[in-house]
Amino acid sequence: MLVGYSSSSEEDGEPGSEARSRNSRRSVEEDEGSRDLPAKKKARTEELDPKTRLPLPGCLLSMFPDDDDETLTEDSSLHGGRIRSFKHERGNWATYVYLPYHPEEEFEELLEELLSTLGAHGPILTQQEEFHLSLSQTVVLRHHWIQPFTQSLQSGLSQCRRFACSAATLKVYCNAERTRTFLGMEVSTGHAQLLDLVRVIDKTMTEFQLDTFYKEPSFHVSLAWCVGDQTEKMKELLQELQVLRCC
Ligand code: AMP
Repeated sequence: MLVGYSSSSEEDGEPGSEARSRNSRRSVEEDEGSRDLPAKKKARTEELDPKTRLPLPGCLLSMFPDDDDETLTEDSSLHGGRIRSFKHERGNWATYVYLPYHPEEEFEELLEELLSTLGAHGPILTQQEEFHLSLSQTVVLRHHWIQPFTQSLQSGLSQCRRFACSAATLKVYCNAERTRTFLGMEVSTGHAQLLDLVRVIDKTMTEFQLDTFYKEPSFHVSLAWCVGDQTEKMKELLQELQVLRCC
């Protein structure tokens, strides 16, 4: 079980820390002179003078992307036309809980067949770069929530037992914003156990006042996607695809 985080940046970036470092010696000397100030006034002086703040180490400064990277990620043409479900903001981490699926070679072959059939008769689908089974909505975490959030999930899920899961039926899904359509394989075996997992995960979501999963989830592994709401067109083609899958 994994928790996926994406899109990050630090709230407390410290630009100009090098200059502060150069000035730090001077500011300490200046502070010496302010020793006799009344306590309240002295505290206020320190608060206003950024030179008295210690510089952040370089490794921390380079840990998060800067504003330029943020501008780039807003360009949907760089992401196959995908549109963000929510605005990217500094300090927000898009997060979802999922089971990773690592397919065998045969699966990839079947998928190629499916996509070429669809491409010939309907919308061009882009194959998923990785395969997963979602167990939560995508929610937004503040950076400092990540550790307690993960901990809450770990303690809730530590008692869960291993179980088998299989997917057999092709199904069309659309996101809530109707901006992307997915071709997925719906889970047939393991639904009850997956529901148990969602119950535990939803408890953590509620604890953090975040959205819980679908009341009646259709557990699936998305295989491919296209931009926009192509549900009707894809459903029409599903019949044909289903036959191909059975061959
Ligand atoms: P995923 O591959 O898990 O990211 O799911 C693809 C899309 O299916 C997501 O945007 C979900 O919002 C959407 N979806 C629509 N209906 C359901 C449902 N009943 N259960 C799970 N996912 C759904």
